[in-house]
Amino acid sequence: MEKPSVSAEASPNASGTSGAVSAAQGDDPTVDPLTKLPTRRAFQQALTQAFARVTKDQAGPALLALDLDRFQAVNDSTGIVTGDLLLTRAAARIVGAVPQGSTVARISGDEFTVLIPDASAAEAVAERLLDLLGRTYAVNGHTVTLSVSIGLALAPQHGADAVSLLRSATIALHAAEADGKNKWRVFDPAMQAHASAQQQLESDLRAVLELNRRELGSAMAVEQFEVHYQPQVDIGSGRLTGFEALVRWRHPDRGMVSPMLFIPLLEQIGLIGLLGDWVLNTACRAAAAWPVPHGGKPLTVSVNVSPIQLREGRAMVASVARALKDSGLDPLRLDIEITESAMLRDALETLQSLKGLGVGLSLDDFGTGFSSLSQLAGYPFDRLKIDKSFVDDLSGMGSKQTSVRDRAFWMIKAIASLGSGLGIGTTAEGVETAGQLDQVRSAGVTHMQGYLVARPLPEAQVRAQIDRLSAPLLTDRPSHLE
Ligand code: C2E
Ligand code: MG
Ligand code: MG
Repeated sequence: MEKPSVSAEASPNASGTSGAVSAAQGDDPTVDPLTKLPTRRAFQQALTQAFARVTKDQAGPALLALDLDRFQAVNDSTGIVTGDLLLTRAAARIVGAVPQGSTVARISGDEFTVLIPDASAAEAVAERLLDLLGRTYAVNGHTVTLSVSIGLALAPQHGADAVSLLRSATIALHAAEADGKNKWRVFDPAMQAHASAQQQLESDLRAVLELNRRELGSAMAVEQFEVHYQPQVDIGSGRLTGFEALVRWRHPDRGMVSPMLFIPLLEQIGLIGLLGDWVLNTACRAAAAWPVPHGGKPLTVSVNVSPIQLREGRAMVASVARALKDSGLDPLRLDIEITESAMLRDALETLQSLKGLGVGLSLDDFGTGFSSLSQLAGYPFDRLKIDKSFVDDLSGMGSKQTSVRDRAFWMIKAIASLGSGLGIGTTAEGVETAGQLDQVRSAGVTHMQGYLVARPLPEAQVRAQIDRLSAPLLTDRPSHLE
């Protein structure tokens, strides 16, 4: 087969691209100025030409769609200059890994495509790319590890023209990402059904937010959305200390849709701030009305804030200040939970401004993200929330190997002593059994949350249960165990 007209050869030059590509630079819309690779437009042309050249008895080309995992977070923590350098290095690695005659393009920020003329080589190339791109990068004094997700589509079975092949590869890429990232997936028609369902969900989400736009700016009731509250308990005293606010979407046809499904979708479509503000307002207003438990301290409310909201900086801090003012809630009773994946260098100022309002800060899902221990000490957190996956691994359900259980215990113990060394609290999430509670207690964890005490409750039930939940809970088997 003849080579596509714009092609990146297997031997990259210093900038990671072939002579054929770097010859056409400047303001050329077909060349990406950063990596010197073909752009999306040039790639589409190359793809169309590749299809035009395929004869009846020939196998068609293969297309790989690549997306660097969590690149935005890496960019935020290393800075844009290093981020750009990383992209060039990644581009060079891709170009160096593909067979002769392939076309490599950068189609957007951290997304690349590869057109391989001989489809039979595609799976091996995907495997090689996963390995090569996952190796450490040393740039500007930073040592960075990246990973990549890859979708693979083969012509003609997954698309008989340029547009449909690209669509199939993108759908396969999204499947690889949804499956935990750092892997490659070949297109399968079932993925198409999943993608359509996601699209439907997205359009339902847009519609219901639009319908409620006015109410979302306040703590007024909003059609289809609710906030539920899950108790948080001091392990030492066994007393209730507060609740975590967790948003719920009651879809008219699908029933309850998990926030794990719709929060990422809202982040993607840029509407997380709208719902996030509503949750914040609603939770503050609810908490302001909670009674102080007999013999206890005023209860706190913990609200999850998406990394995307945090990136809004001052506007985000202003939303929190407004929610406190409108509800009259004492700032000491509000706790903001930020997931560890959002441990951004640029967020420090925002976190300090939040702290300046008097609110508490918790680092959520701790142990799964990429905060470095030295960074952690400089951040104004009041609490580390130990990710549920560690607590799950403590399970004495028999299926878990002793080594897994031991490792989980030692991890939890290490996090608990880190918290104690920093003078801050630790909360074990997802505690379901008395056995797990015993272990997190002996590991030195200060607080717990989980089905053992209660599931997240609708607001009406919270108020009714505060007194009942306020007696020391953890000494005996709780009577309200579900
Ligand atoms: P998260 O903040 O880590 O919240 C804890 C999740 O674990 C909740 O899931 C809670 O219901 C669940 N959980 C608590 N105890 C147990 C247990 O003992 N067993 C099991 N199996 N699960 C338990 P949920 O409500 O589905 O929320 C999932 C995630 O969605 C949250 O994880 C949080 O990251 C996100 N989320 C929820 N509400 C909001 C919100 O208002 N804003 C933002 N940005 N994210 C939210
Ligand atoms: Mg949370
Ligand atoms: Mg969590």
